[in-house]
Amino acid sequence: MELIPVTDLKQWVYCPRIVYYHWVMPAVGRPTFKMREALAAQDLVEVLEMRRGLRAYGMEGARRHFHVWLSDERLGLSGKADLLLESVDQVAVVDFKLTSGEPGQNHRMQLAGYSLLAEAAYGVPARVGLLYRIPDNRVFTIEITRELREAVLAAIDGVRNMAETQCCPPPTSVRGRCMECEFANYCADIW
Ligand code: SF4
Repeated sequence: MELIPVTDLKQWVYCPRIVYYHWVMPAVGRPTFKMREALAAQDLVEVLEMRRGLRAYGMEGARRHFHVWLSDERLGLSGKADLLLESVDQVAVVDFKLTSGEPGQNHRMQLAGYSLLAEAAYGVPARVGLLYRIPDNRVFTIEITRELREAVLAAIDGVRNMAETQCCPPPTSVRGRCMECEFANYCADIW
């Protein structure tokens, strides 16, 4: 089976149906404002990073790697990390977001997915991931706990099972998310 994109883990937490539509109808769905905003944020990454030291991450002396493609057959996962910090005894993935809210479980899942991939690629532990909130330049340190790791593995299993069976998962219980969803027209049962 093809590797699962890390971004699917985030969407799986947000609404598993979005992941279903990505897999069974990959050509469908138009970019939303939020998606375009996220792409625009990518252009800011290097400019922002050049102005900052690594002290905010607690990893002075670490090497910075931008836009790193990561994949692992054993995990069945792949993705491109915005920024990866590498020191002699640890790695840490930095994810950049334009969202103004606090980090949610979907952000934690995505960071943890990248962190597992980084550990596999670099052979050192990823104890934390970092979420860089662009609007206020705030960095959140997310501990990559055992519970979070187990949640990632469970989500990978869930996505793989969904892709194999092609069964449509239940919708998110948070109806507000449906208002700006690119797949809203396909979820007739929720309106
Ligand atoms: S419209 Fe709602 S239930 Fe349907 S995919 Fe989008 S967020 Fe999920």
